[in-house]
Amino acid sequence: ETTEPDEWKSTVCRFCGTGCGVLVGIKDGKVVATKGDPDNRSSRGLNCIKGFYVGKILFGKDRLTKPLIREDRSKKGTMDGFREASWEEALDLVAKKLKENHEKDPKSIAFWGSGQQTIMDGYVSVKLWKAGLLNNNIDPNARLCMASAVTGFMSTFQSDEPMGSYKDLDEADVFVTWGANMAEMHPVLFSRLTARKLANPSVKLFDLTTRHSRTSEVADTVLVFRPQSDLAIANAIANYLIQNNLYDQKFVDEHIQFKAGTENLGHSFKDDYDVTDGKDADKVWNITFEVFKQSVSTYTFEHAAKLSGVPAADIEALAKEFGDPNKKIMSLWTMGMNQHTRGTWINNLVYNIHLLTGKISKPGNGPFSLTGQPSACGTAREVGVFSHRLPSDMVVSNPDHRRYTEMIWNLPKGYLDPIEKPGFHTVKMFRELGKGNVKFLWSMSNNWGQTMPKLNRYRGNDADGKGVLDGFIVVSEVYPTKSTEMADVVFPAAMWVEREGQFGNAERRTSVFEKCTEPPGEAKWDIWTLVQVAKRALDGKKIGDKPAFDVLFGNIWDYDKNDLLEDGHEVNSRLWAEYRSFTNPHENTNKEIQELGKKLKLKAKQMAPYEEYFKQHGICWPVREVDGEWVETNWRYVHGKQEEGYDQYGVEEFGTVGKYKDIDFYKSDDHRPSVIFRPFEDAAEIPDAEYPFWLCTGRVLEHWHSGSMTRRVPELHRAVPEAFCEIHPEDAEAMGIQNGDMVKVISRRGEVEVKATTKGRGNPPKGLVYVPFFAEETLINLVTLDCYCPISKQPDYKKCAVKIVKA
Ligand code: SF4
Repeated sequence: ETTEPDEWKSTVCRFCGTGCGVLVGIKDGKVVATKGDPDNRSSRGLNCIKGFYVGKILFGKDRLTKPLIREDRSKKGTMDGFREASWEEALDLVAKKLKENHEKDPKSIAFWGSGQQTIMDGYVSVKLWKAGLLNNNIDPNARLCMASAVTGFMSTFQSDEPMGSYKDLDEADVFVTWGANMAEMHPVLFSRLTARKLANPSVKLFDLTTRHSRTSEVADTVLVFRPQSDLAIANAIANYLIQNNLYDQKFVDEHIQFKAGTENLGHSFKDDYDVTDGKDADKVWNITFEVFKQSVSTYTFEHAAKLSGVPAADIEALAKEFGDPNKKIMSLWTMGMNQHTRGTWINNLVYNIHLLTGKISKPGNGPFSLTGQPSACGTAREVGVFSHRLPSDMVVSNPDHRRYTEMIWNLPKGYLDPIEKPGFHTVKMFRELGKGNVKFLWSMSNNWGQTMPKLNRYRGNDADGKGVLDGFIVVSEVYPTKSTEMADVVFPAAMWVEREGQFGNAERRTSVFEKCTEPPGEAKWDIWTLVQVAKRALDGKKIGDKPAFDVLFGNIWDYDKNDLLEDGHEVNSRLWAEYRSFTNPHENTNKEIQELGKKLKLKAKQMAPYEEYFKQHGICWPVREVDGEWVETNWRYVHGKQEEGYDQYGVEEFGTVGKYKDIDFYKSDDHRPSVIFRPFEDAAEIPDAEYPFWLCTGRVLEHWHSGSMTRRVPELHRAVPEAFCEIHPEDAEAMGIQNGDMVKVISRRGEVEVKATTKGRGNPPKGLVYVPFFAEETLINLVTLDCYCPISKQPDYKKCAVKIVKA
C-alpha cells in the first residue's frame, strides 16, 4: 500500500516566527507527509528539522480528546482528579464561573492568550474580553518574548514591527547578531545568511553573545560580553560614530530628532530581587544633537570594554563597519535583547546606531527584530491581545482609538470608555493569581505552568502561590502539560492543520493554513470554544437594545441552526473581513470611519482580502493594490515602485516625493523617529560570593518552547531527550564535576537537578551556565527571577545569579 498523498495543501509551520511555508500531504483524510512550500516567499521551500517533522505533532498518544472537569481539587498540580465531561457541561461550568467572578469583581477575571493562537483566535479573544466583558485583563505570552521589541519600536518610530524584510539577508555586507543564536532559533533564516556569506567571502558576521553558540561557529568576530553590558557597547558605537564624524549628517538633519529617556535610572532592582511594578513611565524629552553627543561621550571603547569584558579593539572593529558608508548592515536580535530588564532601552540603542548612519529602510540595511512564536506579530501585536492594545496597533488609552474600534464593532459611542486603562500585564496577572486576587483564569495555546519565571509563585510551593490552587483555571490545550495539571477545566483543542488559521511572521507576512484533517475525538478549534463560552457568559446582557452576543458575534453565528457556522473557512473569512476594516478605512462606506482612519493613519497597515493570502501563500503588510493586484511591501517608509517592494503609503498621503523625498517615516512624530539617549544600568541580580554564576536560559534547535509538542515526535525527542547544564570545563573541574554528573542549580528562588555538560553544543564562558527550558522534569524556571523591564514589563530570563553544587 502506498502512502503517496492524494493531495497537498498549503500551510505554514507552527514553530518559530520565521513562518516557513509547509505543504501538507493528505491521503484518505489523514496527514501522511509534509515538505517545504517553494511558493512561500519567506522560506522559499526550506524547512528546518522542526518544520520537517511538524506533521508528527498531531499523533502523540496522549492527545486530549474530551473535556475534563476536576473533581478532586486536592489533586491540583497533577493530572489526577479529573473526570471526562461533555462539552455542554464543561462550557456551562466555565461560563458560570466566568460570569460569577466577573459580576462579583471585574478585576478578578483574566485571559492569557498567545503568539501561537491564530490571528482570528486572538481577534475573537480580544473582542470577547475587551468589548464583551469590558475587561482589559487579557495579555499574550508574547509579553514574555516580544514586549520589549514592541515598546522599542513604539518609542523610536511610533509604529510597531520591522521596516525591512528577509530580503535584506540577501544583500547585507555585514550582519550583527545581538544576543541571537539564529543557527538554532531561526535556522532557515540563518541558512540564508550563511548562503550570502559563502557566496561573498567579504561578508562578515559579528556575533554579540554571552556564550559561544552554533551561531558563533560561523561568525568572523565573536564578542562575548558580560550579561547586560550590551547597553554600554551600543552606546560606545554611537559615541565613536559621532566623535569621528562617521554618522550621516544629511540623513540626521532631514529625518531624525533627539531625545533622552532615563526615567527610573537607579530604580534599584537590587533592593528586592522580586521588584514588582517598577514605575510605569517611559518619559522621554527632547534634547539637541549636542546634548546627545555629550551624553554618550562617556561611553568610550575602553569604558565599554571594562563593563563588558569585550576587547576594545573588537568593539572598534564593529563600530568601523557601521561608520563605513559603503557597507550595508543588518542587525538581528531576539530574546537576548528583549528578555532584559532594560529591554526597551537596548532596542532603542540599536535603532540609534542605524538611524545615525542612515542604514535603515534600504535593501540590505536595517535593524531587524526576529520573533520567537509563529504569530507573535500577527496575533499578539496586530489584533491587540496585549492588555493595553486594540486591533491595528491602537491602544485603549487613546479616545480616538476607542472610538474607531466602537465604529468597526457597531458599539455605541463611548461604550469602550470603561477600558481606557490597561489591564494586568502577564507578570502582574500571574502574581495576582498567586495572591488569590485573580479568581478566574483562562489560558489558551501556552504553558505558563512551565514557562513563567520564578515558578514557585505559581506552583503552590510559595506562600504567594496559594491563589493558583484556589482559583478557577481553564486551560485550552492539545496535550497534558504542567499547566493542565493546575486546571479545573481542560478544553481539548484542535491543533494546527486540524482547523483553518492564520499566522503573522517576523517580516510582517500574514500566511494562512488550510484545514487538512479532522481533530481527534471531541477536540474543537478554539474559536468555536470561545464563541460557545461567549454565548453563555453574555446571556442576558444587552448593548443598546440588542443582545450583546448578537452585536459582537452575530456575524459568525448561524441563527437558523442556532450554532456556530460549521464551515471554518466561512467563519475565518467573515472575521478577516471585519478585522481588515480596521486597516483599510478608505474602503469603508462610512465617512466617519474614513476620516478618523485617515487621521490615525490606519491605512498604513493595509491588509489584503482573505482569499489573496491563500492565492499568494502569504503576503507582507502593508499590501497595496496596484492595477488590481495586491502587492506586498518589503521596505516600509522608503518610496519607490510597489512592485519592487517599496512603500506607496507616504507617496499617496504626502505627495509624489513625500515629505522628505525618498524616505518618510510617516508614522513617527513629525515624521522623525527618535535617537534616544539611554544609559547603561546593571543587571537586576549579579553573581556574588554566595551565588557566583550567571544563569542564562533558552531553547535548543529541536524543541519548541516547553517541549509539549516536539517531545512527542520520536525523532526530535531522541535527538535531545533531556535538559542539560552547560558549564565551562575549568569551572566544572574546580568543583570536581565531571561531564555527565548530576548537579543542582540553585538560586535564591528555587533549585533544580540537571545533568552537567562540559561538551555541549554551546560553550559558556567561565562564570556562566546555560540551561534550556524545554524539559518539564527540569523546571529551570523555579530558579529564574521575574524582574522585568519597567517599560515593556517583559521579564529577564537571560541573567540571574546561581550556585552549582554536585547532586
Ligand atoms: Fe521555519 Fe521556524 Fe518552522 Fe524551522 S521552526 S521550519 S525555521 S518556521
